Amino acid sequence: MGKRDQNAAHTAFVTLRDLPGTRVMFWVVEDCPYCGGRHFHPAGNLRNADPGERLGEQPAACDPARTYELLLPPRPKKKAGKQERRKERREGKRRDIDDENW
Ligand SMILES: [Zn+2]
Repeated sequence: MGKRDQNAAHTAFVTLRDLPGTRVMFWVVEDCPYCGGRHFHPAGNLRNADPGERLGEQPAACDPARTYELLLPPRPKKKAGKQERRKERREGKRRDIDDENW
């Protein structure tokens, strides 16, 4: 907790999808930092899972020996709705890995 591990993981931005007709959710990596491809990570079931818990460091789908950090992409601030507060709680789990040393 709170440790700085700048070399630990690449960052992969994800979007949440669900399978139509099911309650199964996936985090979709659109642009893998290793292979540039698209990967799917199960995020659980709508009924009993919090997909935010599946964010963070995960083994890369294309190379389990390596990890990347699943993050929600920064979004333009347009609508502040009911979901905003829930999102903020989720994003509170994000570690701050800004490009501070560039
Ligand atoms: Zn990959």
